[in-house]
Amino acid sequence: MALFMKPIKTLDDLFLHTLQDIYYAEQQITKALPQMIEKTHNPQLRQGFQSHLRETEHQITRLEQVFQAIGEPAKGTTCEAIDGIIKEAKSVVSDVDDEAVRDVALASSAQAVEHYEISRYGTLISLAHQLGRTQIIPHLQATLDEEKAADRKLTEISESHVNRQAA
Ligand code: ZN
Ligand code: FE
Ligand code: FE
Ligand code: FE
Repeated sequence: MALFMKPIKTLDDLFLHTLQDIYYAEQQITKALPQMIEKTHNPQLRQGFQSHLRETEHQITRLEQVFQAIGEPAKGTTCEAIDGIIKEAKSVVSDVDDEAVRDVALASSAQAVEHYEISRYGTLISLAHQLGRTQIIPHLQATLDEEKAADRKLTEISESHVNRQAA
């Protein structure tokens, strides 16, 4: 939460804040993923990151549709959580010399990002239900499904290839 942000008084305010938070987070993720792709050795993991980068760009468009549907300008608010997760990922990854071990560190850092996103979209869907904004739920649900699929894919890749090479 930023220092001089607008006070949150109602569920509407909380919904808007959470939407701005994930809008900012998705943008930071599109900046971080190319750097992660560069550092990834395993081709399957690299391809997974590349396809999630394209998905993330589309998720940003979906969020803009949600802003439009609720009559608010699309803007982000600093999310200290995602900034922290990305900062931690960079510092852990830069400490790893072995490329197979680095891939595991990249995959596990990416899962921390996915889990943050899953919690945010889950909250937005539940708030949208409570606020009766049912028309925007499919947009949020489509992205939540992609985040969950990305998380599962990372587990799969880690368990089948990356960890084995690192062991
Ligand atoms: Zn996201
Ligand atoms: Fe996302
Ligand atoms: Fe946040
Ligand atoms: Fe994601």
